[in-house]
Amino acid sequence: MTDASLTSWIDVPAGHDFPLANLPFGIFSTPQRTPRPGMRLGEVVVDLDALLGRGHLEGLGLNHEVLTATVLNPLMRLGKPTTVALRERVQSLMSADNPALRDNPDAREACLVPVATTTMHMPVEVGDYTDFYSSEDHARNVGKMFRDPDNALLPNWKHMPVGYHGRASSIVLSGTPIRRPHGQTRPNEDQPPVFGPSRLLDFELEMAFVTFDGKPLGERISTAEAEDYMFGLVLFNDWSARDIQKWEYVPLGPFLGKNFGSSISPWIVTLEALDHLRVAGPTQDPAVLDYLQYHGDSHYDVPLEVEIIPDGASSGQVVCRSNFRHMYWNMRQQLAHHTVNGCNLRAGDMMASGTISGPEPGSFGSMLEISWRGTQPVAMPDGSERKFILDGDTVVMRAPYFGSVSTRVIPA
Ligand code: MN
Repeated sequence: MTDASLTSWIDVPAGHDFPLANLPFGIFSTPQRTPRPGMRLGEVVVDLDALLGRGHLEGLGLNHEVLTATVLNPLMRLGKPTTVALRERVQSLMSADNPALRDNPDAREACLVPVATTTMHMPVEVGDYTDFYSSEDHARNVGKMFRDPDNALLPNWKHMPVGYHGRASSIVLSGTPIRRPHGQTRPNEDQPPVFGPSRLLDFELEMAFVTFDGKPLGERISTAEAEDYMFGLVLFNDWSARDIQKWEYVPLGPFLGKNFGSSISPWIVTLEALDHLRVAGPTQDPAVLDYLQYHGDSHYDVPLEVEIIPDGASSGQVVCRSNFRHMYWNMRQQLAHHTVNGCNLRAGDMMASGTISGPEPGSFGSMLEISWRGTQPVAMPDGSERKFILDGDTVVMRAPYFGSVSTRVIPA
């Protein structure tokens, strides 16, 4: 995954998630530093405001306010040319042949912070959150389970990236516990509904991209322009209460079964850092409408895995190995569709992929599919089994370049 031509004077072990070729953005603090933007390289975080204060970020249009803000939104409002130039500048400063920091112990001390001394925070204030439904295998699996196995995809599915508007306020950082939600369900279809803790709590393996400010309200963004409005991506666990969802979703779609929490990884990996992972998407048949057509490789080969660690256990069970390339609709198509009616975007909006399932059992991105609606339990190393997620379980999603998003479920 690493680009050998980009070597740092900082020692980064081979296969590390955060080589110099990556350099993701996040918000960190230490006992001496208020929460602020930083970039991750190996086992250090680069303090961008410290670089600015020492004159290393001249000419980029940055200032102290932006680089000590508690979220990345002010930086993102400066637009893609600025964030790209900033990342390139830091890449240059940290590259093996650049002596500016390398040979200056004072500057190194001021600008580089050991990861072990940092606390991570929500990287962006999420304004609006949209969740798509763009993995064909996931949509087929759900269609087979709940509708007609012979017509698993609904008639619109191959004509547009289906999505819904979710809840931004409950998107939380990796490490924040999620409380099992209460809600209304109807476990017995011959009986009235009941109220209580969800019994079918699930994860959804997703990735989400974060946007820059878009065009003014009323204007659309084409597939060709779409990447100019994407900052980067995070791992995204879209927690779901299947029993609440099943009873509530007709006719307006997901609501309380979804809005109690979603978890993200702390480092936003830029689109530029993922450029070498581009791959072609699937052939889209039937042909899509003009505004959804695109050119070039717009899918990404990012292996993904999900592990469940039972309460108190030292090791867990990997229950899913999938890949971000298993998408029918890519992010450019999602953004073009989202704005084709003139809907505007703001810096910090988050757009999630939908559950990313592959074609094989073992690559399904939710317990709903893995246990096939609870009919095929998964064995855990401690002898227990899982159909859905239990109190005390920790769900960890990982990907090269992204690190992880890890969340413990606490009782209702
Ligand atoms: Mn979802």
